Amino acid sequence: MMTKGARVRFQSVCKNYGDVQALRDFSLDIGAGEFLTILGSSGSGKSTVLNALAGFSPASSGEIYVNDQPITYAPPEKRNIGMVFQNYSLFPHMNVLENVSFPLTMRKMDKLQREKLARKALDIVRLGDFAARKPKELSGGQQQRVAIARAIVFSPSLLLMDEPLGALDLKLREALQFEIKEIQHELNCTVIYVTHDQREALAMSNRIAVLRAGQIEQVGTPADIYDKPCNRFVADFIGNTNLLAIEPTVGGGIRIPELGVELPGATTTPAASFVSIRPERFSRVPQPTGVAVQVVLQEMIFLGDVVECSAATVSGRIIHFKESRLAGADRLERGQTLYLSINPDDLVFVKDA
Ligand code: ADP
Ligand code: MG
Repeated sequence: MMTKGARVRFQSVCKNYGDVQALRDFSLDIGAGEFLTILGSSGSGKSTVLNALAGFSPASSGEIYVNDQPITYAPPEKRNIGMVFQNYSLFPHMNVLENVSFPLTMRKMDKLQREKLARKALDIVRLGDFAARKPKELSGGQQQRVAIARAIVFSPSLLLMDEPLGALDLKLREALQFEIKEIQHELNCTVIYVTHDQREALAMSNRIAVLRAGQIEQVGTPADIYDKPCNRFVADFIGNTNLLAIEPTVGGGIRIPELGVELPGATTTPAASFVSIRPERFSRVPQPTGVAVQVVLQEMIFLGDVVECSAATVSGRIIHFKESRLAGADRLERGQTLYLSINPDDLVFVKDA
């Protein structure tokens, strides 16, 4: 089943449903073999992107290219694109093998060849022994693996997945995240994956496109998006962070009023009005030296390897920090006064958008 991943280009794609502008000037290039995730909250237009690419709901304007061929208005069956939906959408009256063979039946392939390819796809998702079962005799995770087998049975060069793990519980979701990555490597295809779960996006992707109200806010590697969010919205959406207003000081540095600290040497971009400090960037120190914030410890959440803490600054602002148990988090108590130091290099200045 070796295919070569397709290249995809969205060029100024707009999609309107009546008065609703679901996509506005959406442009994105996706490389051959890439795992690209479209991340956004519910209603941001994620499914609209996939449906326009798969041909289920064509774009209102703009152009979509697959390997440099315009396919914007081609019928879905001419696109050689596999798609997996959140709700599995298996045919209940067909058994597993018939479900997986279905796209091949549509392509008028002969029975022997159909069965051979369907069994191969079932082996890839590790359901070789379940060919004769009906969907209702399978767990949710197994049903979704059947849906994946059905999407890959014709060796598509492009696989679209619309919140495929959304209906599954956490453990299963994490296991299937690995399986999906393995399947991609085995098929050598391009994957465009849709999720509203930022952890899933960070875990699986080569690149992430953050979507907000039908427009891309930022595209980049997971590390780029996490470490260098382009604005307050992205900083807040990806991971947990402390977003704090900043003010310029007379000497050309900045002040963070809610933390009660000044950074004389800090340089920001002129448009920046906030600083994002990740919880893992605070480190507890015994004495207030350097740039340190005095806080009173509020709540602690035990997570096994680390403890997540909330604390109130002198100004009353609640901030969050993380501490490994090795660093002594086990001995902390509510109401205790602590000093949290920040390394000025860890501050990420963002504009308000
Ligand atoms: P997501 O998948 O990110 O949750 P969608 O792409 O499904 O978002 O929807 C984007 C916007 O388009 C939403 O405001 C949604 O209500 C609207 N929308 C989606 N499909 C239709 C439709 N068939 N008719 C009218 N509006 C729609
Ligand atoms: Mg959707």
